[in-house]
Amino acid sequence: MIISDFINKHSKYFTSYKVPLEFKDEFNQKIMYLNLFRGKLAAFASLLLLIISIYIDLFINRRYWDSIPAYKNLYHLHILGISLILVLIILYYINNKKNLKIDLFLHYSLIICQLLWNEAASVNAQFIHGQISAYIVALVCISAAFLHNKIESLIIISFSYITFIMGLIVINLNQAELVGNIINVLTLSVCSYAISQVFFSMYVKNFLINKQLESALKMKDEFLSLMSHELKTPLTVINAAVQTIESLCKEEMSERLKRYMGNIKQNSNRQLRLVNNILDITRINSGRIKLNKKNIDIVFLSKAIVDSVSLYSEEKGIKLSFSSEYNEKIIGIDEEKYERILLNLLSNAIKFTESGKSINVRLSYTEGKILIEVHDKGIGIPKDKLELIFERFGQVDSSLSRQAEGTGIGLSLVKLFVEVLDGTIQVTSEIRKGSTFSVTLPNTKVNEEKVQKNLMDVSDSRIIQSVHIELSDIYLN
Ligand code: ADP
Repeated sequence: MIISDFINKHSKYFTSYKVPLEFKDEFNQKIMYLNLFRGKLAAFASLLLLIISIYIDLFINRRYWDSIPAYKNLYHLHILGISLILVLIILYYINNKKNLKIDLFLHYSLIICQLLWNEAASVNAQFIHGQISAYIVALVCISAAFLHNKIESLIIISFSYITFIMGLIVINLNQAELVGNIINVLTLSVCSYAISQVFFSMYVKNFLINKQLESALKMKDEFLSLMSHELKTPLTVINAAVQTIESLCKEEMSERLKRYMGNIKQNSNRQLRLVNNILDITRINSGRIKLNKKNIDIVFLSKAIVDSVSLYSEEKGIKLSFSSEYNEKIIGIDEEKYERILLNLLSNAIKFTESGKSINVRLSYTEGKILIEVHDKGIGIPKDKLELIFERFGQVDSSLSRQAEGTGIGLSLVKLFVEVLDGTIQVTSEIRKGSTFSVTLPNTKVNEEKVQKNLMDVSDSRIIQSVHIELSDIYLN
């Protein structure tokens, strides 16, 4: 009753899961690396045990060496074991994953050596205490620690069963003891096989679940990307129509109509920002983001970006300033990504700083890197939220009653952009005193003769459009 209950409850562990052909190579490679890693751990653990055993041989059991020669044999076995393990560890490190076939050969050599060595120790133990404990430990540990499929496991366990029984026959064990051991070792082999297959099935099951999750995530990203594209097209059309109406019918529009048009423009920009951000996140996650690095004067570019948002800071009564250690610094950078990073940080700084306070953007050089700091004297961020804000949808105040608009996507995208540019981003903050976002970028140039200078200024229509989109969360009066 109890056994059938147990089997019913745990039947999922006895089910054999099949890896589909398309994932076979990936699965085999994963198992191989895992076994190799565990093999190295097992080798080091055995080394430690053998060192302790040799100590016991030399300082405790030595007095029995003459009266019971098996104790001396045990010492020799320990020396042999240590030499074998050392050779295997050295070979592991010499090969160092260079040749997977050699690694695999070493893995199986380790298992065979472990089994044969423990069999020899158990055979020798027949002359000391008559137990086969060393063999039991080795077989159970190998079955539980390494992942082997049905056939591999069957071959390993049968090999160990046959060689061990042969060892017991060779030493002329009396018939009763031999039969007893044959039955014990057979039971042990069946249990070890079951253990190894339970672990193997569990691993296959987890692998398959991970594959299902991966494909669900991929589908979700594809869906998001498709939806974002579909949403972007009408938004671009709305934006273009609003711009055309504004430029063609400016004179005829009443103040009220202008306000309504402004509302349409701002809100379609907010939607466009969200859609662009989602598209960029899915692009980066799927490795489809393209970098277009050029040698650019980062001081000029940063100043132009800061100047371009001054309308927003002035409107909110915030003092916005820019300072730099140099007059000019040429680095290889993707202008558009950098613009998005700085505009996002400035948009947040303006959003979360009250009127009468200040924001400073500072450019300097530290430990061979360019450091860009956006420092505001705004509301600050609680210490326990400093990591959360870089996560997707992470907001300090996510309640509907929060003071500023936003989706919590901006900083997670900023972080991804910074990482794509081989940089880092950090934040320090104090509640009601302000926050400093520090971005470091590598001080490297791209192989390009021409340096793009003064490539844009505040009147550049592209940057103006980007500013309107990136700062669309901030409402101007
Ligand atoms: P959001 O679209 O909500 O601004 P972000 O990812 O840009 O999304 O920012 C996440 C959260 O981090 C914000 O909701 C805000 O709580 C906090 N935050 C970001 N920048 C600042 C800042 N300069 N001062 C105070 N809080 C900030």
